Amino acid sequence: MRRSAIIIILAAVMVFPMTISTLSADPLNDAIQRQRQIEQSRKQAENKLNSLQKTEEIKKKELSMIIQQLDTAKINLTEAEDALREVEEEVQISRENLEETKQQLADRQETLGKRVRNIYEEGQLSYLDILFQSTDLSDFITRVEYFKILVENDQNLLADIKEQKQLVENKTAELQQKRDLAAELQQSAVNAKLNFDQKKSAQQKTLAEIEKSQEELFIQIEKLEADSKKLEETIRNLQAANKNGVVGTIRIWPLPGYYTISSDYGWRIHPITRKRSLHTGVDIPAPAWTPLLAAAEGTVIYSGWYSAAYGNAVIIDHGNGMSTMYPHQVKVATKYGDIVKAGQVIGYVGSTGWSTGPHTHLEVRKNGVPVNPMDYFK
Ligand SMILES: [Zn+2]
Repeated sequence: MRRSAIIIILAAVMVFPMTISTLSADPLNDAIQRQRQIEQSRKQAENKLNSLQKTEEIKKKELSMIIQQLDTAKINLTEAEDALREVEEEVQISRENLEETKQQLADRQETLGKRVRNIYEEGQLSYLDILFQSTDLSDFITRVEYFKILVENDQNLLADIKEQKQLVENKTAELQQKRDLAAELQQSAVNAKLNFDQKKSAQQKTLAEIEKSQEELFIQIEKLEADSKKLEETIRNLQAANKNGVVGTIRIWPLPGYYTISSDYGWRIHPITRKRSLHTGVDIPAPAWTPLLAAAEGTVIYSGWYSAAYGNAVIIDHGNGMSTMYPHQVKVATKYGDIVKAGQVIGYVGSTGWSTGPHTHLEVRKNGVPVNPMDYFK
C-alpha cells in the first residue's frame, strides 16, 4: 500500500517534467497546477506522517506503562520467591521439630515400657527384692511409693510429649498449606512477568515498524520538496519569459485597516516534519469576506484552488521577476490572465487550506523565491 503510493508519486514526478515542455496554451499555469499536485501529495504524506507520529506517541506511552507494569511484576515475583523460600524453611524446621518430638516420644515410651515391665511383669520378684533389701516395713513402703511416683512421672511426661507432637504436627500441616499458597502466588507472578515481557517486545516491534514507516515518509516528503523546488524554478523562468506582462511596484497594503501580523516571515521549526522550514509569508488576520486588494499592478498568473495548504489563491505577476500571492481566500475575484490595477479587489479573505481562522498569508516572491513582504511596506 505504502510502497505503491510512493511508486505512483515517483512515476508522476518523472513523467511531468517531460509533459511540461510539450504543453501548449498555458505552460506557466500548467507548471503551477503541477506544483499544486505535488504539494497535495506532500500534504498527504505529511498527514500520514503526522498520524504516525501521534500513533508513535500513544505506543510509546503504552510501552512505558507496560514497562512500569513489568517492573511491578518483577518486584512481585521477587517478593513471592522470598516468601516461598521463607515458608519452605519454616516447613523444613517444623518437620525437623516433628522428627525430634517423635524420637523423644519413642524414647520415652521405651523407657516407660521398660519400667512398667520391670514393675508389673517382674513385679513379684522386684517386690521381693525390695522387701528383702528393705531394712524395715516403712523402708519397703517408701520404696514402693518411689516406683509409683516414677511411673506416674513418666506417664505425665509421655502425655506432654504426645500433646507437643500433636501441636508440631498441626503446625507443620499449616505451614505446608502456607507453602502451597506461596508456590501458587509465585507461579502467577512468573506468569504475570512473562505476559508483560511478551507485551513489551510486541510493543517494541510495533514501534520499530512505525519508525521505519516514518523514515520512508520523511524521504518521500524530502523528494517531493525537491520536486516542488524544481517546479518553482520552472515557474520563475516562465515568469521571466512573460515579457508582455504589466509592470507594477508593490506598494498597496492588501488589507487596509488590518495591520496585525499573527505570524512573521522567517525560519521556524515545521510543526509536521520537525525540520527547520521557512514561513514564506506574513499572516494577517481579518474577518471572512474582507476584500483583498492587489498590492501592485500586474497580470494574474494564477486564480483558483491552489493546494490543500494554500486553499484558494491568486498569484499576480508584477514583472521584473516580482510576484505576490494571496492564499486562503473564501472566494477569488479574478481569473487567469486578468490585468489588475494596484488596489483592485482580487478576492475575499477566508480560511481555506491549512488555516485556523480567516486570514491572508501574504507572500512576495522575487524570481520565484519567497522574500520578506514587510520589506515592501515600510
Ligand atoms: Zn502563513
